Parts: sequence; structure tokens; C-alpha cells
Amino acid sequence: MKLKGKIALVTGAGSGIGEAIAFLFAREGADIAVNDINPETAEKTVDEVKNIGRKAIALEADVADTDQVNAMVDRVVDEFGGVHILVNNAGIPIHGPFIEKQTPETWDRVVAVILRGTYLCSRRVGQWMVENRTGKIVNISSIAGARATPHIPSYGAAKAAVIQMTRTLAVDWGKFGINVNCISPGIINTPLTQRTFALWQTPEEIRQRIPLEVMGEAEDIANAALFLVSDEARYITGVNLPVDGGILAKG
Ligand code: NAD
Repeated sequence: MKLKGKIALVTGAGSGIGEAIAFLFAREGADIAVNDINPETAEKTVDEVKNIGRKAIALEADVADTDQVNAMVDRVVDEFGGVHILVNNAGIPIHGPFIEKQTPETWDRVVAVILRGTYLCSRRVGQWMVENRTGKIVNISSIAGARATPHIPSYGAAKAAVIQMTRTLAVDWGKFGINVNCISPGIINTPLTQRTFALWQTPEEIRQRIPLEVMGEAEDIANAALFLVSDEARYITGVNLPVDGGILAKG
């Protein structure tokens, strides 16, 4: 088991990619702090993690809210004794397809959840990690942060900023033994995808965009996250790893 004795906080772990990461990390021996803004789905993930045989707690919190994030991280440290791994995964569906009809409020909320949320959680968990001279952080960005993706300026801009923040945190916190890396998923089969661009693109149109010719699964992202938080990746920090079936390579 690669994560025996580790405590992992996964945001947005009630669904999709976050849920898959929670399950895989639990199967590798980690206890899991399951954050989600939706308490019912967080509890469901907690039950599954307990079925795997690991400890888990559900943490209802909005990652964009400073007080809620601080209280959440403090509770993890109180109940588990620390937090060795943070996965900043929480994200919200993107609103398409007409940019000119999107509201400033939509912009603010998307940027708050994706960018401010990643900052707030990294900041509070980072205080424990710096003090304890250890830690692994994985930020879930998107290929939309590296190339123009139609209809979603707020999402793409926030995801690009997450890639850049990954580099800054990696450089600042390297001396404390903290690895900070980023994963950019491509088109992954999750509830978010089903609620958004799958509505305005056919499965065949989606398939044609992907060199490997299939959508990814949440487990593909979980496998990459496991590698980045494992000892095998101890010398890797500040990178952005696309897990996208070749979409970025295609250009
Ligand atoms: P999902 O909708 O299945 O899961 C996202 C989870 O985040 C949900 O459970 C939701 O309740 C939670 N959440 C939303 N806002 C929150 C908040 N403010 N605080 C706490 N939790 C919150 O989506 P997913 O596809 O699993 O996406 C996970 C991450 O991967 C997101 O950051 C998303 O942008 C990114 N991503 C997904 C894809 C894809 O194709 N699915 C591609 C690129 C990047």
C-alpha cells in the first residue's frame, strides 16, 4: 500500500473525480477527510471509504469561504492529527454556450470556487505542512487552463491561474519538503461533463477531439493523483500533468 498512515483531504469528493481519488487513496491505506458543499454526497463517499476499511469524516464546506475552510482544516487536524495530502478538486459546472449572456456573478462564482478555493485550502493546509516539514498537494486544473475552450472564459482563466499558482507554491514550499503539482484532465466521464458540454456536443463530436478516441474515466485522474502523492514522485514538483487522451498534444 502506497499511502499507509497518511491523512488526505480531498475537496469536492462527493462526486466524480474527487470521489474516485478518495476511494483509490483509501484502498492505498490513507484515511480520508471528505469535503463537499453537498453534505449528502460527502456522507455517501464517507460510507464507501469506511467499507474499504479506512477512517473517514464528512466535511460540509464551501471552499470559497475563508471561515468554512479554516474550520474544516482545523477539524481534520484535530480529529486525525494532521493532513499529509491535499487534493484541490472542487469545481463547478461551466455555463455555456453564450459568453455575452453570462453574468458577472457567474464569473465571480466560478473564479471563487476554482481559484480562491484552491488558494484558501492550500493556505490553511500549508500552515500545518510548513510547520511539519512535509506534504503533498495536487491541484486539479483542466486542459481549459492551457488552451482556449469555447464558451467558458471564467473557467479557463481560473484553471490557468491554478496551474500558475501550482508553480509558485512549489517553489516557495520546496524547502519545507512539500511537493505541489497539478493535473489537467481532458474530457472525463463524470456528472459535471454530463451536465455541461455533453449537452451541446454529440458523443461522436467529443470522440473526434480525442486522439485516444475515448473519454477518460475518473479513475484515470485518480491514478495520476496517486502517483503524484506517492514516494515514487518525491522529486517531482511544480509540474502540470495533462491526463487528456492526447488532446493537448493534438493542439
Ligand atoms: P463533479 O461535478 O462530478 O464533482 C465536483 C464536486 O465538487 C461536486 O461534488 C460538487 O458538489 C463539489 N463542489 C462544487 N462546488 C464546491 C464548493 N464551493 N466547495 C466544495 N465542494 C464543491 O465534477 P468532476 O468532473 O468530478 O470535476 C472535478 C474537478 O475536475 C473540477 O475541478 C473540474 O473543473 C475538473 N475537471 C473536470 C473535467 C471533466 O471532464 N469532468 C475536465 C477538466 C477538469
